[in-house]
Amino acid sequence: MRHTILGWTLLAGLSYGAGDADMAAITVHLYNNAGVSRTELHAAESAAGWMLEKAGIAVRWQECDGLCAQPSDPLLFVVSVNRQDPPQQTGDALGFALLKNRGNHAAALYHRISAVVARDAAYRDSVLLGAVIAHELGHLLLGHNRHGEGVMKASWQRRDFESMRQRRLRFTEEEAGQMRDSLSKRIRDWSVRGAADPQE
Ligand SMILES: [Zn+2]
Repeated sequence: MRHTILGWTLLAGLSYGAGDADMAAITVHLYNNAGVSRTELHAAESAAGWMLEKAGIAVRWQECDGLCAQPSDPLLFVVSVNRQDPPQQTGDALGFALLKNRGNHAAALYHRISAVVARDAAYRDSVLLGAVIAHELGHLLLGHNRHGEGVMKASWQRRDFESMRQRRLRFTEEEAGQMRDSLSKRIRDWSVRGAADPQE
């Protein structure tokens, strides 16, 4: 059943489960500010995309050289892979998510990620960059900075790196449901507010 109103079509899509062709889909603009190799970036996209897909959210990646146009879109997220720490202190976090304003910007701190991977050969194939990107997108999609299990753990231990390598590290079912609900809410809020102020 398809409705012609955009919001209804998208909301109908969100109600389907993982694996369905109509699964919720977000677009992620990816800024590679750390000179990450194309191979590693693609591996990270693939790993993060898998984690989100298992949670019922498909990701369309768009790599931005220079600047990508940013249309007002509740399903658009922006992730930068940075070489340096932000001005604010972030402890030993490997990334951060900006929940204010549109709540759609996050970053992975690549120098820290490289340092973790270099520390232990067992972490080398963990696709840690992808897990960090999925984790920070998780904060944006959940709309809070709290931590949980799996992808949303506050800090990963050796067995979590093993899970990443074996593609077993996932969002919990509860988080997956909350993220899909939150996407539906973004679309509702946007359709109410977006027409009045597309810049907001
Ligand atoms: Zn976190």
